[in-house]
Amino acid sequence: MNRDQAAESVRQLLVQIEGRPEEVGKLREGLIETPDRVAKAWEFWTSGYGMDPAEILKTFEDGAEGVDEMVVVKDIPVYSHCEHHMAAIFGTVTIGYLPNKRIVGLSKLSRLVNVYARRLQVQERLTCQIADAMVEHLAPLGCGVVIKARHMCMESRGVCQQGHHTITSALRGVLKTEPDARNEFLRLAM
Ligand SMILES: [Zn+2]
Repeated sequence: MNRDQAAESVRQLLVQIEGRPEEVGKLREGLIETPDRVAKAWEFWTSGYGMDPAEILKTFEDGAEGVDEMVVVKDIPVYSHCEHHMAAIFGTVTIGYLPNKRIVGLSKLSRLVNVYARRLQVQERLTCQIADAMVEHLAPLGCGVVIKARHMCMESRGVCQQGHHTITSALRGVLKTEPDARNEFLRLAM
């Protein structure tokens, strides 16, 4: 992102939102630094495009011997933006996987979430991308991802259904095909 160009675009949007006809193109005092701040914030909110999931999910086998139970990290905070309105999406992600000799540091899972959350998203794709990255880079026997999130574009406009959560899930491998593994994960995730 070219931050200066992004800031100029924000400035033009602000003029459309709040421009004063008598001073075309001028922003009022309180908004003067807003374009730069907004551009900087969007640089962060979309920094996932420059992140490499392979780098984050470097696996290690130490400690993986004998791990044949599901590893579940519950309620990882997630902050993203919808690609239809650029409005905030926020909630939690639960990731579970059944290791196949390879395990990954638990903090890496929240970093993996950020790789895909810090982009313009739809919740369904975000859910699948996290699951598919787990499969690609960790090759587990099975993997599941559940996201519970609130969408400001839905809640603050139109019908204003406050507190309405959208729940999406993506199941891969034995978590999709084996009812016991699937039920265990969903019970832990919900
Ligand atoms: Zn939206």
